[in-house]
Amino acid sequence: MKKAKIAVIGSSSMDLVVTSSKRPGPGETVLGNSFKTVPGGKGANQAVAAARLGAEVYMIGCVGDDAHGEEVMHNFKRNGVHTDYVEPVTGVETGTAHIILADGDNSIVVVKGANDCTTPAYVEKTKSFLETCDLIMIQQEVPEETVAYTASLCKEIGVPLLLNPAPARRISKEIIEQAAYITPNEHEAAILFDGAHLTDALQEYPNKVMITEGALGVRYFDGEEEVLVPSYKVTALDTTGAGDTFNAAFGTAIAEGKQMNECLRFANRAASLSVTGFGAQGGMPYRNEVERWFT
Ligand code: ADP
Repeated sequence: MKKAKIAVIGSSSMDLVVTSSKRPGPGETVLGNSFKTVPGGKGANQAVAAARLGAEVYMIGCVGDDAHGEEVMHNFKRNGVHTDYVEPVTGVETGTAHIILADGDNSIVVVKGANDCTTPAYVEKTKSFLETCDLIMIQQEVPEETVAYTASLCKEIGVPLLLNPAPARRISKEIIEQAAYITPNEHEAAILFDGAHLTDALQEYPNKVMITEGALGVRYFDGEEEVLVPSYKVTALDTTGAGDTFNAAFGTAIAEGKQMNECLRFANRAASLSVTGFGAQGGMPYRNEVERWFT
């Protein structure tokens, strides 16, 4: 089978993770227990997951000209993600997420860094390449105007856009109309549709809006009725990145031309499997694991 060709326009970052038995208060210094760096960012996570699931993936985004940027690039290459359109920007730092895991909870400071360099003009430079793709994926860790530009560009060049509206923010009706698929979780859906009844929102956008509901699965309106495609029963170890795996798997299956219901079942399988492993990218399954997995 010919591989599906997907462009992921999005963020890359380095997660700097500290574990500590105590969270420092204002002005306080505490001793931590461990430290590690882990490649992340929703764009990079979805690109890596889609490559592991068998798509031909091209990342479109920016890193800084620093050590984190080099590691992010290595990580793409290790996972078979093409980096032809990832630019190290001079004098800018790679995006970082500073994570403190303490008292069974996490606190996070995100510095967007080079992700803000993924502007509409940056995306426009790749237009002739984007025209050759089966699907374009985007999330909301790049500037708002980049999402708006990409949505109108996809409409213009006739390539379907999968918009994962995470992190949550309100978007214009025009963008919702232009995107082919939109995949909020319940929290993001409430903000996206501004408190409207979600059943009404689903009915307004049949076969377009898919609301993921964690362990329950995913809900959409198929044109005739509301359908809940159930997830799979697993022992969840770490749900970080479940949504990223879901989007990557859904996008891969859509780009391969599969039917909606089959795409959603594949996405649930991959995402359910991903929560049985630790870390966002750590838990992301490979295609053969998803296909061979019996539940
Ligand atoms: P996000 O990670 O963006 O908050 P969700 O929590 O809705 O998104 O999860 C996305 C998808 O991951 C779900 O639709 C489901 O397929 C899968 N998933 C998440 N949590 C679980 C779980 N505990 N058990 C099985 N599948 C899960």
